Amino acid sequence: MDCIFCQIATGKIPGDIVYQDEELLAFRDINPQAPKHLLIIPRKHIPSLAELSPAELPIIGNMVALAHKLAQQEGVAETGYRLVVNYGEWGGQVVKHLHLHLLGGKKLSDKLG
Ligand code: AMP
Repeated sequence: MDCIFCQIATGKIPGDIVYQDEELLAFRDINPQAPKHLLIIPRKHIPSLAELSPAELPIIGNMVALAHKLAQQEGVAETGYRLVVNYGEWGGQVVKHLHLHLLGGKKLSDKLG
């Protein structure tokens, strides 16, 4: 498996991991776009939102719930944060392993696109 996020999840390459359990993993983005920039991923290799089966839909809910918990831990929940999932070429998805961006720690741009 040459997926970079799978390699972080299995410990084959290092990641700045801030949380892990049986289903999910969270680590700091290597090229942060905000003072706090975490990536939340499922351990399972799901390439994108499009490949999420109906049975796997709870994973997204768990990712969002974890994001809020981590935002609290990182001290950005009170001031606010942004969650982003990029999909497809024009949506800007580069890594083909489902991931949720958590961005916070500064007043984020009013522009989304
Ligand atoms: P996306 O454009 O939504 O696919 O986002 C992929 C994100 O993964 C980018 O923000 C990258 O900076 C980040 N990234 C790529 N490789 C690594 C890595 N080895 N460790 C942490 N973050 C990474």
